[in-house]
Amino acid sequence: MSTPARPRGLGLDARKRALLERVLGREGVPPPAVSPIPRSSDATAVPASFAQERLWFLEQLAPGSGRYNLWRAIRLQGPLHVEALERALGEVLRRHEALRTRFVESGGRPFQEVLEPGHFPLAVVALEGFEAAERLSQARRLAQQEAARPFDLGRGPLIRGVLLRLDPEDHVLVLTVHHVAADAWSMGIVLGELGALYGAFREGLPSPLPEPGVQYRDFAAWQRRHLDGERLEQQLSYWKDRLAGRSAVLELAADRARPAMPSFRGEEQESRLGLRLLERLRRLAQAEEATLFVVVLAAFQVLLHRYTGRLDVIVGSPVAGRTRSELEGLVGFFVNMLALRVDLSGDPSFREVVRRVRESVLGAQAHQELPFERLVEELEPGRDPNRSPLFEVVFAFQNTPRRSLALAGLVPSALGARVETTRFDLECHVAESAAGLGVTIRYSTDLFEAASVERMLEHYGTLLESVAGDPDQAISRLSMLSGEERRRLVRDWNQTSTDCPQRSLGEVFSEAARAHPRAIAVSCGAERVTYAELDARSNRLAAYLRRRGVALESRVGICMERSPLMVAGLLGIIKAGGAYVPLDPDYPAERLALLAADSGVSVVLTDALLRDRVEGCGPAAILCLDAEWSEIEREPADAVTSGAGLGNLAYVIYTSGSTGVPKGVEATHRGVLRLVFGADYAEFGPDQVFLQLAPVSFDASTLELWGPLLHGGGCVLFPGRIPSWHELGEVVAREGVTTLWLTSSLYNAAVDEAPEALRGVRQLLVGGEALSVPHVRKGRERLPGTRIINGYGPTEGTTFTCCYTIPGDLGGRPSIPIGRPISNTRVYVLDAALEPVPVGVPGELCVGGDGLARGYLRRPDLTAEKFVPDPFGAEPGGRLYRTGDTVRYLDDGRLEYLGRRDEQVKLRGYRIELGEIEAALSGLGGVKQAVVAVKEDATGEKRLVAYVVRQGAGGAGAGG
Ligand code: AMP
Ligand code: MG
Repeated sequence: MSTPARPRGLGLDARKRALLERVLGREGVPPPAVSPIPRSSDATAVPASFAQERLWFLEQLAPGSGRYNLWRAIRLQGPLHVEALERALGEVLRRHEALRTRFVESGGRPFQEVLEPGHFPLAVVALEGFEAAERLSQARRLAQQEAARPFDLGRGPLIRGVLLRLDPEDHVLVLTVHHVAADAWSMGIVLGELGALYGAFREGLPSPLPEPGVQYRDFAAWQRRHLDGERLEQQLSYWKDRLAGRSAVLELAADRARPAMPSFRGEEQESRLGLRLLERLRRLAQAEEATLFVVVLAAFQVLLHRYTGRLDVIVGSPVAGRTRSELEGLVGFFVNMLALRVDLSGDPSFREVVRRVRESVLGAQAHQELPFERLVEELEPGRDPNRSPLFEVVFAFQNTPRRSLALAGLVPSALGARVETTRFDLECHVAESAAGLGVTIRYSTDLFEAASVERMLEHYGTLLESVAGDPDQAISRLSMLSGEERRRLVRDWNQTSTDCPQRSLGEVFSEAARAHPRAIAVSCGAERVTYAELDARSNRLAAYLRRRGVALESRVGICMERSPLMVAGLLGIIKAGGAYVPLDPDYPAERLALLAADSGVSVVLTDALLRDRVEGCGPAAILCLDAEWSEIEREPADAVTSGAGLGNLAYVIYTSGSTGVPKGVEATHRGVLRLVFGADYAEFGPDQVFLQLAPVSFDASTLELWGPLLHGGGCVLFPGRIPSWHELGEVVAREGVTTLWLTSSLYNAAVDEAPEALRGVRQLLVGGEALSVPHVRKGRERLPGTRIINGYGPTEGTTFTCCYTIPGDLGGRPSIPIGRPISNTRVYVLDAALEPVPVGVPGELCVGGDGLARGYLRRPDLTAEKFVPDPFGAEPGGRLYRTGDTVRYLDDGRLEYLGRRDEQVKLRGYRIELGEIEAALSGLGGVKQAVVAVKEDATGEKRLVAYVVRQGAGGAGAGG
C-alpha cells in the first residue's frame, strides 16, 4: 500500500488517548495488549490475513505487475562492507517470517507457508563501466526497473536486494518488498534493523537485537479468531452505520477519460508550506482539541468538496494497524485503510468542520480493527476490481520523519528515483517536520495532468492559509484561488470588449443598404431582392405598422414561411420600433394562441395561406402581408423614426419552461449587434452568403438573418421545410453559400450521409448540443476547406456566448471545447455560492455582457432567479445569466462543456424542459403522475419517453 513511512496520522499519543477515552468511553479504545497473541505451531497451515488475502486475490486477477512493490533506493557513500551488509540482510530475513513466506492455494483461498531461512542473495551490479557522470542516472534507471519487477507470491521470498556499485566507495542499495509481506512501517523496521546488524557484523559482534516474540503468521491466526462473532459484528455494524446512505464515488473531474483497464501509473508533485502557517494550524488544532491531522484533513475534505460540489466527502486514510504493542517491531502487512466520511452540509464554518472531522476520526480510530478488505466484502461485494472501492482519494499524515538507512561509516542519501505507481486516483500525503508541512500529491497519470495537480497543491495551500486566518468563516467563503489566479479567470480571460455600432438594428441595416444598394440582400428560389428594395419595403411596412398602433417595444407576432416578404416583415417590425415574436407555422394552433396571448402581441403578421393558423391569436389584429401589400405600398419609403435604442427589445423567442408554460426571452438590439460585429469566430461582410435554414422561432435565425443583412452580405432563404441533402447541396452550390449553421444532430447526419452537400461552405457553425468528437474528426477529413466552429449559447445570451474554431489537430481531448466568450461577452465558471472555481474544476457557466437578454417577458420572478446581480462587472445594476450548464476551464482559458445541472434536454436541436411535458401530461384527464426522460434506442437515436401513473389504477404505462 502506498503509504508514507510511519503512517501515524491516527496513531494515539497519551493526550489523545485520554481525549478519546473521554469522548468514547473505555470500550471504544483499543486496549493495550492484555492476553498475548499466542504463537501458532509450525505444523498448522495458517490462512493469510484478511489484507493479504485481498492482495493475493488481486494478484491472481492481474499477475505479473509490480504495482504492489514497496521499495527504497538508498545511496551509500563511503567504504561499504558488502559481506556485513549481506549477512545483515540475511538476518533480517531470518528474523521476520513474513519476508520468507509463500502462499499456497487451498479451496480457492491462500495459506501462508514459511520458508526456511537461508542466505540473502544480494546481487551486485557494477556500473563502473559507464562514464562517471552517467553512473547515477544508470543507477536510477536500474533501480526503477528493479522496483517494477514482479514477485511470484507462490514462490517467495518476498524481499530482494540489489547493490549497484558506482565506484568502490559509492553504492546504491535497492530493496524491494511485496506489500503482501510488509508495509511502509515495516520498511522503517527493516532499515533500522539493517543499521544495527551491519554495525555489529562489521565489528565481528553478534546480533544485538532481541528475538521477536511473535510472527506475522501468529497475528494472522489471532486476527481471524479475534475478529469473530460479536466483535466482528460490533465493528461491522459501526462501519455499516457510518457509511450508510453514502453518495456514489467522488468523481473528481479528471483531465482524461478513465480507461477501462487502469495502468496504475502514477506521478508525484510536491509543495512546502512554511512554519508560520504550521504554527497557526497547530493553534487551531489545540483550540479544538484536535490533532493537526484532523485540521489538515478537514481542509483537504473541504478542498474536495469545493472541487466536486459534493457535501458528502469520503477519503481513505491509512492507520498503522499495530494496535498491540507486540506488533510494533514486526515486519508484515498491518496497515489498514479507514474510510473517513464527513458531512459538509449547511455551509458550516471551518471550525465546525474540524469538529465533524474529529468525531469521524475518533470513531474510525476506535473501530480500526476491522480490516478494510472485510468491510469492502460486506458493503460492496462484486464491485469493479479496477476501481478502488468506497473512495478513490487517499489522505495520509505523517508526523515522524521517514526513516533512512544509517550504516556505520557511510553517508546515506535518497537516490531520487521516483515512485511511478498509484492504486488510487489521488493520494495526498502531508508530512509535518521542523521546517513546516510538506505536501505530496501522488496521482494517477491515467486521469490527471501534472498542471492540474500543481494547481490543486496551490489551492490546498491557499485554503489552509484561509482557514488559519479565519476559521470561523463559512466554508463557501474560504478562498482557494490566489489573487493572481482569480484575476486571470475573472478579468484577463474576459477581455472581449470591441467596438460595435451604437445604433439600432434598423439604422444599421439601412446604412448597409445605402452602402450596397444593388447587392442582393435576400434570395429565395428564383426570387431576388436587393438591399435598396428591401430597405424601401421595410420602411413602408414600418410606417404602416406605426399607423396601426405599433410603437416602441410593441410586440408583433409573425407567422410566415421563409420568404423575402417574411424578411421584410421582420425588418418592418424592427424599424417601427417593435419587437418580433416568431410564431412558428408548424406549431399547433393552441400553442400559437398561447404564445400570442403571453407575449401580448397587438398585431400578427402572416400571409393568406397561413391566415387560419393564427385565427386563435385574437385579440391581436391579423395582417396578411401579401393580401395587403398594395395598401402598404402606398406608405412613404423613407425611414420612420422609431426611437429604438440599443437596450430596446428586438425580439421575443420562446423556450420551454420547467413548470408547464414556455417563457419568452427578451433579446435586445445590443445583444444582436454584438453577435455580428467585432466577431473573431467567423467573418462577416458583403462577401459572405449565409443560408437561412433555422426556423425563425430559434435564435440561430438571429445569426442567419442579421449576420448578412447588417453587413451587406447575402441571405439565402432555404425554400423548403425539412431539406433533403440533395436539395441542400444544390442550394449551397447554386447560391454560393459561404456560411451555414447546423445543429449538432444535423451536422452529424451531414458528415455521415452527405458531406458533399456542404462542399464550398467556408464557415460551418455547429452547436445547440455538445459536438461529437468522431463526427468532428470526420468533418475535418471530408470538408478540408471548411472552417468548423463550435457555437455555444443559450437564447438568453443571444445565440452565441462562446465559440471555438476547431483546429486541424484535435489532440487527444475527449470532447470539443466550446471556446471563449465572443465580443463584449463575459463568462464566469461559478460554484453554488457564485464564487469562481479554478481551472479544471466544474462549475456553472454564468454569462455577462452585451448579449444578455433583458429577462423573461412578464416573468419577474423567473427573471430574478436566472438573471442575478453581477458581482464581477463594472457597471452598476449589471447582471449575470445562470445558464444551468456545467463547464470547466481548460488550461488555456477555453471552456469545456460537461452537461446540464437540471432537467433541461436537447433533442434534435429542441430545447426541452422535461417538467413542461410532465406538467402537460399530468394535466390530461386520467393521469395521476407523469415522468419524462430521454432514452436512446438501439441505434443511438434519442427519444422522449413518458411514464404515466393512471388515476385510480395502480399500474404505470410507458409511451414514446
Ligand atoms: P438554446 O437556448 O436553444 O440555444 O439552448 C441552449 C442550451 O443548449 C445551452 O444552455 C446548452 O445546454 C446547449 N448548447 C447549446 N450549444 C451548445 C454547444 N455548442 N455545446 C454543448 N451544448 C450546447
Ligand atoms: Mg443557442
